[in-house]
Amino acid sequence: MKKREVKSLADTAFDALIVGGGINGAGVARDAAMRGLKVLLVEKNDFASGTSSKSSKLVHGGIRYLEQGKIKLVYEALHERKTLMDIAPHLVKPLHFLIPFYNRARGTPAWKLRLGMTLYDVLSGRKNIASHELVPRDEALFYEASLLGGELKNAGGYYDAQMNDARMTLENILSAEEAGAACLNYVSVKSFVTENGKVCGAKLKDELSGDEIEVKAKKVVNAAGPWGEMLQRLTGAQTKKRLRHSKGVHLILPRVNNEKAFLLFAQSDGRVFFVLPWGDYSIVGTTDTDYKGDIDNITTTNEEVEYLLNAARDNLNHPYLSKEHIVSTYAGVRPLVYEPKQRSYDTSREHEIFEDDAGLLCIFGGKFTTYRVIAKQATDKLMKYFPDKRAECATAQKLLYGGNITPNLYRELSREFSATEVLTTHLVSHYGARAREILELIKQDAALGEKLCVNHNHIAAEVVYAATHEKSCTLSDFFSRRTFIRHSKCRGLDCIEKVKDILQKILSYDADTLAQQEEKYKIEVKADLSFG
Ligand code: FAD
Repeated sequence: MKKREVKSLADTAFDALIVGGGINGAGVARDAAMRGLKVLLVEKNDFASGTSSKSSKLVHGGIRYLEQGKIKLVYEALHERKTLMDIAPHLVKPLHFLIPFYNRARGTPAWKLRLGMTLYDVLSGRKNIASHELVPRDEALFYEASLLGGELKNAGGYYDAQMNDARMTLENILSAEEAGAACLNYVSVKSFVTENGKVCGAKLKDELSGDEIEVKAKKVVNAAGPWGEMLQRLTGAQTKKRLRHSKGVHLILPRVNNEKAFLLFAQSDGRVFFVLPWGDYSIVGTTDTDYKGDIDNITTTNEEVEYLLNAARDNLNHPYLSKEHIVSTYAGVRPLVYEPKQRSYDTSREHEIFEDDAGLLCIFGGKFTTYRVIAKQATDKLMKYFPDKRAECATAQKLLYGGNITPNLYRELSREFSATEVLTTHLVSHYGARAREILELIKQDAALGEKLCVNHNHIAAEVVYAATHEKSCTLSDFFSRRTFIRHSKCRGLDCIEKVKDILQKILSYDADTLAQQEEKYKIEVKADLSFG
C-alpha cells in the first residue's frame, strides 16, 4: 500500500476542516480552496462511498417537484444542469426522456405532465437543452419497442442530463486539491476539540494505518450527509431532529431500453421511477421509503426488488424484467431535511445550511444537481470568518479537473497515440482531458493497454492511474467508484486477479493487504445480490 502522510498534518492549523467526502463536502472543499482558504477534507471511507455514488445519476430539475409547487428548486436545478454540463462535459451529458401516455394512466394524468414539461421549458429559459415535444405512438415504438404498443397513445419527449456521480465527486476532490486543499479518504473524525463550547479542531483516525492525530481548524463544516446528526452529537451539544433518512434502491439489468430514458409511474402507489440507459445496462429505480436501519450497511431487500420489477413490468414488456436477470443492485439513503410529512417521497429536496450551538457549519438535505449552489452558499458563510480574503465564487466558470475537452480531442488522441476510437471514446468519457495521461502510461508500457476482461472496456492502465492519481486505496474503490465494474456482468470477479497482479507488481502493494481487500470486496458483491 502506498504510504500516506497523514501524521504530517498533526497540529496543523487549517482555516476550514470539512467532514465528509460526498458531493457536498467535495464541492465546499473546491470552492473554499479556490477562494484562498487553507482546507482539509476528511472522509471516513472512500470519496462518494455514501449517498453520492447511490443516486439515479441524473442532473435534473425534477418534473415531479413541480406538482409539489417547488418552482424555485426546479428553476435552480435546471440552471445548474447547464452549468454542470459546461464545467464537466465529459461526465454530465444530455439524456432524452420519454413519458409514455397509456390509455390507462398509472399516476399523474397526461395533461398535467404536458403542462409540467411546458413549465420545465419556461423555467430552463436560455439554459434549456431542447424544448419538449409530443412523440407520435409509432415513432415512440420505433425507438423503444419495450413500450406497451397495445395501450400506447403517444409519449412526451423532453431532455434532462445524466452524470457519473462517483466520478463527479472525485473530480471535485481532485479540483479542490489542484486549488491547494488537502483531501484524505479513509480518515475519520472521532471526536471534536472545543474551546469555550465551540469546535476548534478534531481528533482524526487514519483508518488504513490506525494512526491518530489532532488538527486545528477555525471553522468545521459538517458535510456528513446521512451521518450529519451523528457527527453533530460528537460535539456534545444538544441537537433537535433535523434529518429524515429515506432509502432508495436501484436494479441493474441488461438493457431493456434502447437509447431513451423512461419516466414511469408505479401502478401500486403512483410514484415516479426511471428506467435509464447506462452503458450495456439499464438502471431501474428508485424507491423512497423511511429508513431506520444501520446507515453503514444498507442493502436491497426482496420487497424492494419486487416493487421495482412489478412497476417496470406494468409499463414495459421485456423478458429481462425478471429477478433472474438482475445483474446487480445498489442502495443508498437520502439525507432529507426533516418535515412531518407522511411519506418521505413527499418530503422536500431543498437544503438547509446552519451553524449549530457548537459552531459546526451543517449542510443538510439537497440534491446532487444543486451541490455547487449548496457549496457556494456554505462557502459564503465560511468566508465571513475570513474578512481579509475577498475572492468570489468561481466554481461555475472554472472547468472541473478533466473538463477541458474539445470536439477534436478524440481525433487528436487517436492520432498521437495510435489508439482505437473505442479506446479514446471510453477514456475521454471517464477521464475527460486526462485521458491523455492514461495513454501516456500505455506509451511507456504497452501491456497496460490490455483490457482487464471481455465484459467491459476498462484497461490495465486505469488500475495504475486510479491508484497513483485518483486516491484509490482498495480493490473496492477501483471496482465500485473509480469504475462501475462492480455492477457489471462479471462484477469484477473475472479480473480481480489481474488487478491484484498489477497493484502488486507495478505498485508493490502488499500481498496480505490485497488478500484482505479481496475478501471484503467479495462480501460487498454478495450483499448487492443478497435479496431473496
Ligand atoms: P454523502 O454522499 O453521503 O457524503 C457524506 C460523507 O460523509 C460519507 O461519504 C460519509 O462516509 C462521510 N462521513 C460521515 N461521518 C464521517 C466522519 N465522522 N468522519 C469522516 N467522514 C464522515 N440527486 C440528484 O440530483 N439526482 C439524482 O438522480 C438523485 N438520485 C438519488 C437517488 C437515491 C436513491 C438517493 C439516495 C439520492 C439521490 N439523489 C439525487 C440525492 C443525492 O444523491 C444526495 O443529495 C447527495 O449525494 C448527498 O451528498 P452528501 O455529500 O450530502 O452525502
